[in-house]
Amino acid sequence: MLEGGCHCGAIRYRVEGEPKHAALCHCIDCRRQSGAPMVAWTLFGNDDFAVTRGEAKVYASSEHGRRHFCADCGTGLFYTNEVVFPAMTDVQSATLDDPDALPVRAQIQTAERIGWIKDIGTLPAFERYPGA
Ligand SMILES: [Zn+2]
Ligand SMILES: [Zn+2]
Repeated sequence: MLEGGCHCGAIRYRVEGEPKHAALCHCIDCRRQSGAPMVAWTLFGNDDFAVTRGEAKVYASSEHGRRHFCADCGTGLFYTNEVVFPAMTDVQSATLDDPDALPVRAQIQTAERIGWIKDIGTLPAFERYPGA
């Protein structure tokens, strides 16, 4: 069992078992709603997912897509779509207490990927902010 939550702690959740997928999404909707260049998702059946504290606010980001986020701190948490994957919840896996526990296995929607992300592995990297 793994736990996670939003930045302020008002919303907590837990997941169990193996996710049905674990993918890094580059789509425009994920980018615009999260404010981040990409979003990591892990999909669970609702039997293996539970919100254990608080209640997320729900935003209709498309006809059937629903994005659930913390109204207090703004953290994006869950995605549901009763047409595309009924009775399941996609969880933003970067909000897990241990995000390394569920590594992504694929990148999806790369047709909408920001151009510079493809070469990000070649950039200079610093363990902390680079010194003055
Ligand atoms: Zn919060
Ligand atoms: Zn997406």
